[in-house]
Amino acid sequence: MPFSSEQYRGYSRWVAERAMANNGNLPLWWINGEVRVSWELEIPRKTVDIIVEAVRQRLNELCGLRFAFKLFGQHESFVEQLNACALNGQVDQEKLFSLASMESWRDESNGGRQHADVYITAKPFLGDAVSWGAADFNFGVMFFALYGQRYSHQSFLRTIALHEAGHLAGMPTHCEYLRIKGYAKNTCNMNSDLSSDGLCSKCKEYFRIFWETINQEYGTYLCGQMMDF
Ligand SMILES: [Zn+2]
Ligand SMILES: [Zn+2]
Repeated sequence: MPFSSEQYRGYSRWVAERAMANNGNLPLWWINGEVRVSWELEIPRKTVDIIVEAVRQRLNELCGLRFAFKLFGQHESFVEQLNACALNGQVDQEKLFSLASMESWRDESNGGRQHADVYITAKPFLGDAVSWGAADFNFGVMFFALYGQRYSHQSFLRTIALHEAGHLAGMPTHCEYLRIKGYAKNTCNMNSDLSSDGLCSKCKEYFRIFWETINQEYGTYLCGQMMDF
């Protein structure tokens, strides 16, 4: 049964409220407007730049924030976390997400600072040869599995990075699963078939309501200068 528009807006609010009610454990990764990017040695800088630009564009569009991207490359804590989550050269993504979201670098009481993490690896997901990426608002983490020649598919990587930025910005599902009366099946970047770089009006409305709900609770933070290094 398709949702009515009112039910759909209610769903978006509910996802945001459920995330905030998560026992106070929701990492407020967006509040400092900072995203840290790490990548494995096998990943060319050109690939990193394509992903960063796509994520920058989409987060700005969806959260209304200008994020500063700090480019860490092969930082030792990234290598440690990745090794801790790798099994036979494959990455246990759930473990990586919880490690990253709890790292001391994010812990303000420990001299850390909240931020999101983007991990660009040359390893596959554990037991999954199909997925290219994953991201989750509840952890503030994005992961790419660019093994083999995957790093070289530049325009597809841009489409995927835009899509994962949508998951990071608060959509846990895909466009085709959220049917609304009066909306046809859309060409949309949040479809699981990645049929477009653009977002349909239904998904734009989802993100508008989502961030309205988040900002009502935490206030709107406006910050972020380009601080690439
Ligand atoms: Zn997806
Ligand atoms: Zn859509």
